Amino acid sequence: MLTVNAYAAPAAGEPLVPTTIERRDVGPNDVLIDIKYAGICHSDIHTVQGDWGPQQYPLVPGHEIVGFVTEVGSDVTTHQVGDRVGVGCMVNSCGECAQCRRGEEQFCVQGNIGTYGAVDRDGTITQGGYSTHVVVDAGFVLRVPEALDFASAAPLLCAGITTYSPLRHWKVGAGSRVAVVGMGGLGHMGVQIAHAMGAEVTVLSQTLSKQEDGKRFGADHYFATSDPETFTQLASSFDFILNTVSAEIDLNAYLSLLDVDGTMVNVGAPPAALPVTPFTLIGARRSFAGSLIGGIRETQEMLDFCAEHGINAATELIGADQINEAYERVMTSKVRYRAVIDTSTLG
Ligand code: NAP
Ligand code: ZN
Repeated sequence: MLTVNAYAAPAAGEPLVPTTIERRDVGPNDVLIDIKYAGICHSDIHTVQGDWGPQQYPLVPGHEIVGFVTEVGSDVTTHQVGDRVGVGCMVNSCGECAQCRRGEEQFCVQGNIGTYGAVDRDGTITQGGYSTHVVVDAGFVLRVPEALDFASAAPLLCAGITTYSPLRHWKVGAGSRVAVVGMGGLGHMGVQIAHAMGAEVTVLSQTLSKQEDGKRFGADHYFATSDPETFTQLASSFDFILNTVSAEIDLNAYLSLLDVDGTMVNVGAPPAALPVTPFTLIGARRSFAGSLIGGIRETQEMLDFCAEHGINAATELIGADQINEAYERVMTSKVRYRAVIDTSTLG
């Protein structure tokens, strides 16, 4: 066992506090990672606040992890000591079901094992990346290309793959008219990736305050959803809409922006039900869908794609003592665009 420094939520809605946790001994298929940076995803906040159901506390969040390999198990051939690696939202799955076999471990029929707050195969509760070290099955450890800035690569492990996967799955490319709703952590990755895929990209943000950044990320157009005129002007004008909003929005208003046969994919995960009026879909053979992160193979593909296209997350590097303040800043959409913890400050 390795005792390591971490930051944990002691109970739902309470500020995170410094603590120590135990990491298991490195097994034959495991990799020990010295974590350098960990991104703060809005999902961390939903989880520790109990938005998605009860949790076992204390809980160490963090599923946007990058660091260096410091030890590998005897059967590991894919990673070596010193490698730059990343870990995202999953640390294991059954490996045998149809979904795992086709590389969609996130949809494992037995449930993927989340990086934190999940029951691991040994019965312990997984603890995430707001910590100095983690031990992970080698099959869930990604290679971080040298071309990527290390701290800015951390958010790719969740925000990057969560936006890349649906854009790929729904075959977004040259000629696609894409709208990204919400330009936060996920949204600012979605804009860059859709642009790199060749799409014509429109940002639908609450206000125009981040318009210059949006254009810098590759958006061709930028509209404020607080202006009702936006919905009139853009009616039936998109092939694909990626909704990254963490809160409830009027989905019917956004669905009406899809052209015939268009698809809106929800990756935003507020806890409430979001009503969809059937006629909004029926009237133009529109589809409404969801998407969950992406498989391990696709996550590696995304990291390589970002390296090739010079895509990085825009980050605010913070110390451990700023984690609670960062949570407040995420909740009020003030972060530009992902807060990343420098884990050397964990003590
Ligand atoms: P984030 O950084 O907080 O970004 C969310 C953005 O949504 C904000 O920047 C804001 O964009 C917009 N927004 C926030 N409140 C709003 C409101 N009341 N009305 C309209 N727009 C609002 O969060 P994130 O880390 O990108 O995560 C976004 C959501 O995706 C969360 O629910 C998270 O749990 C979920 N998620 C899902 C997956 C998956 O696999 N499906 C993976 C990761 C995260 P503007 O300021 O531009 O309007
Ligand atoms: Zn996430």
